[in-house]
Amino acid sequence: MKKIPLIKPYITEEVKAKVCEVLDSGYLTEGPVTKEFEETIRSYIGCTYVLALCNCTVGLEIGLRAAGIGPGDEVIVPDYTYPATADVVRIVGAKIVIVDVDPETMLIDYDAVEQAITQHTKAVIPVSLFGNPLDYDLLRRIKEKYDISIIEDAACSLGARFRDIHVGNLSDISVFSLHPRKFITTGEGGVVTTNNRKWAEWMLSYKHFGMGIHDSRLTTSFNRIGTNYKLSNIQAALGLVQMGHIEELLSRRRELSERYYRLLTNTPKISFPKATVKGTHSWQSCCIFVENRDQIMEKLKERNIETQIGTYSLHMHNAFRENPMCHILGDMSGSRYAFYHCLTLPLYHEMTREEQDYVVRELLEAVDQSS
Ligand SMILES: *Cc1c(COP(=O)(O)O)cnc(C)c1O
Repeated sequence: MKKIPLIKPYITEEVKAKVCEVLDSGYLTEGPVTKEFEETIRSYIGCTYVLALCNCTVGLEIGLRAAGIGPGDEVIVPDYTYPATADVVRIVGAKIVIVDVDPETMLIDYDAVEQAITQHTKAVIPVSLFGNPLDYDLLRRIKEKYDISIIEDAACSLGARFRDIHVGNLSDISVFSLHPRKFITTGEGGVVTTNNRKWAEWMLSYKHFGMGIHDSRLTTSFNRIGTNYKLSNIQAALGLVQMGHIEELLSRRRELSERYYRLLTNTPKISFPKATVKGTHSWQSCCIFVENRDQIMEKLKERNIETQIGTYSLHMHNAFRENPMCHILGDMSGSRYAFYHCLTLPLYHEMTREEQDYVVRELLEAVDQSS
């Protein structure tokens, strides 16, 4: 069997043609194609403001800045996430407060969030990890009770929904990634969504060198110190064409994930993460829990099957563990369970039934032989 990759970007002749069209136009920086891409995302999600930018991490950073978060403030993040979620808190000068996750969903522990709130807490950055949406009813209750902002790391949840409302329209600010590990990708890229006009205009200005804004358009009076976090027309062309196929990509991912679960469900040594009640998963990643995860991954690699761990436990890393501006609360048993047991299976739109059967067969054998 040829190599089974973890994920494959959606790069078709149609995508390539759109990129070539941009190249031929000579308009390579951020421009009309970026605008059109933003508009496509806006109407898909149903939110008011969308900004495309060069990656998700800077999107989280400017989201925090727009909400006025900086030195003296505390921001709560989950332990089980990609480090970027917490890095941005220090980048804007605030203190990182890390709490545990629920081992069944791998999402932030809402009770732990509430217990971690102090008079300095300004925001929570919950993560809709792997495309599993958060419980936004619970988050809204916490937000209103303590008057804090919800700035969501929605890096992997484009297309996910809660009570049929799209992720991106459920938090104060949501930030998506367009990195090639995500199924809509521009190589590098990110998208910020919000319904807050003041924050949207501030972010628009900040990502364009601090330009002024008049009638929602940029002007050449520079009103603040800013930076350059633009997404080029070339990159936006990739995302724009892919967005035209998002429903078909989502339903393909759902179909393959459900088939994985069906074929693996009778194996006592494999269990499955819980999806959020009232949520619709985007299946950015299809994860299972196994014992001896690393051994199984190694065995699958020998059979030409690429798998991945889920993500990282921040408290295990020096950047956070030895950081006086990082406060780690709790025993992190939920996060450690996810870190040692979560395995991400190959999943891409072109995956055939034969390829999936091969992965399932080899996985079952590897699980059976592991000890
Ligand atoms: C991919 C990812 C990021 C990083 O996104 P970039 O676009 O590479 O900056 C951050 N957080 C989570 C949860 C991710 O999955």
